[in-house]
Amino acid sequence: MKIAFIGLGAMGYPIAGHLAKKYETLVWNRTFEKALAHAKEFASKAVDLAEVAQADMVLTCLPTSLEVDEMARRLLPYLRPGTLWVDHTSGEPEMAKKTAQMLQEKGVSYLDACLSGGVAGAIQARATVMAGGSAEDFARARPVMEAFAAKIVHVGPLGSGHAVKAVNNALLAVNLWALSEGMLALVQQGVDARLALEVINASSGRSNVSENLFGQRVLTRQFPNTFALGLLAKDLGICVSVLEAAGTPAPMLKQVREFFEIAKREVGSAEVDHTAVAKLLERWSGVEIK
Ligand code: NDP
Repeated sequence: MKIAFIGLGAMGYPIAGHLAKKYETLVWNRTFEKALAHAKEFASKAVDLAEVAQADMVLTCLPTSLEVDEMARRLLPYLRPGTLWVDHTSGEPEMAKKTAQMLQEKGVSYLDACLSGGVAGAIQARATVMAGGSAEDFARARPVMEAFAAKIVHVGPLGSGHAVKAVNNALLAVNLWALSEGMLALVQQGVDARLALEVINASSGRSNVSENLFGQRVLTRQFPNTFALGLLAKDLGICVSVLEAAGTPAPMLKQVREFFEIAKREVGSAEVDHTAVAKLLERWSGVEIK
């Protein structure tokens, strides 16, 4: 089987590397040098878009659903019936349905198969996949996704992978913001940040943010750039559209989106790591979390 991977970014590059160890893998990237570097590192093959369309499965991992739709349009003249398009972008349910419909007219089926687990999970082949689409397409894609994922769940019809991912990332944002506020107050009152974190991590307030992100990125002052603040803010916008479409009450999740929009403006860059919101709260309070 031939796989094509489009979008060799922080997530896509290592994931396409795992695929290349198991399958004949074609790679395409907007900045083509990255595709050439990938081919050299993983023995994948850097190709043009006409050749991408020769694959049995086309995988994408791009910033938003807009770029995915743009790529689908560019590939449309070349695509062959029976191809399966698996989108690993954290995207928008409604846009994904439109892209899927356009592809369907060419006989190409589509899954929205969002990823979580971060860059570390992608590098270690321990990503989580939440997929929306038909059971048949999911069954076809699952063995391929096993090359880079430890947990793969079919969550429902088309668009539901994106919806679950958006809610998950809104929870990440809530935890990140809330823990930053709480830690600032504790440090201000003379508590050692490491001891506070140690206790929280053995108590009911713990989360991935407290157990991993805070210790590794904030307390070390490293803030390594693996997941851009702008991408998290994008996910929060998607979450709000999911909430609004459902019409269910969601004052907390809508509020956290506002917080991150403000943070993006205040930090002055969407490119910094999402944990930079802790630094912003430090700036506002004049206290450093240490
Ligand atoms: P990056 O910014 O690292 O990579 C983005 C990729 O998309 C690059 O290959 C880039 O190409 C390509 N790209 C950007 N614009 C276009 C365009 N107009 N046309 C074609 N290609 C384009 O992003 P990530 O890998 O971090 O994220 C990708 C997706 O995965 C996002 O939806 C994100 O929300 C999601 N995600 C990210 C996680 C993370 O921890 N980073 C975790 C889970 C999900 P070029 O090299 O030319 O810039």
